[in-house]
Amino acid sequence: MPPSEQGGAPGDLSRTTRVTVLGSGTLLPDHRHHSAAHMVEWNAGAVLLDCGAGTLHGMDRYGVDWKRIDLLVLSHFHTDHMGDLASILWAREHGLRPSEASPLTLVGPRGMVDRLHGLARAHGEWLREPTGGMRVVEVEGEGMWSDPEGGMGIHHHPTPHTEESLAFRIETPAGEVGYTGDTGPCAPLASFFRGVRVLVAECAVADGTEVPNHLSPIEVARLAQGCEPEILLLTHLYPEVDRSRVTDLIARAGYTGRVEVAEDGMVAEVPMGRPVAVHTAADGV
Ligand SMILES: [Zn+2]
Ligand SMILES: [Zn+2]
Repeated sequence: MPPSEQGGAPGDLSRTTRVTVLGSGTLLPDHRHHSAAHMVEWNAGAVLLDCGAGTLHGMDRYGVDWKRIDLLVLSHFHTDHMGDLASILWAREHGLRPSEASPLTLVGPRGMVDRLHGLARAHGEWLREPTGGMRVVEVEGEGMWSDPEGGMGIHHHPTPHTEESLAFRIETPAGEVGYTGDTGPCAPLASFFRGVRVLVAECAVADGTEVPNHLSPIEVARLAQGCEPEILLLTHLYPEVDRSRVTDLIARAGYTGRVEVAEDGMVAEVPMGRPVAVHTAADGV
């Protein structure tokens, strides 16, 4: 199904969760597909999933209010997933008026605090306490973290990619959004993601070139068959994965659900009780 088929005006965030693709690319330079970043927003919450290079300026390009981020969730420590972290914190340090400054919560794998110490040595001690303040939460293994101030739950599950890598499921009022981060094939992820409305799944390598720490179209199809998301949004495609053929490959591998190939600026609107709608940046969203 081509993008935009269910186009229309963006939903009201009081009844809709919006997933904006800020970075559908990889570690390779590609001006149309920046490194990994996906924003999940509803009226009372804004969660940024990873922040590879291009995230901060992409927020301006695609109409995402960078000042709204409550939660920044990092899947792992590869640079294409966290390269803009210092830039985002620097923007908070100097770009927020006192009236706009609310604490940022950074949720990341075990080792996050050490990484921040290293970043602070490089950039300056301000980084550990930028304007508005920052709370750091380390999570590991399978479990759930929820904001003690009543925020929605963030479920996490380890993935076979690096030692610390995690996949996430974000609870929102309109349903759950899943994000694989980077992962190799991992059977338990299918039950972890069961019931999500949107599954943002990496599809980094081509069929026939399988590796233990990334997914190919056939492997993504297997994952989606096991959890049946309302929409499967493919992201993190390396050039060897043919964007024009990948949805066919997944259908041929036996997955019959709805599949979209993420592009920077693409928006998935997830309304309560109605089907997900997808808009491309060209639709003016
Ligand atoms: Zn990685
Ligand atoms: Zn990656």
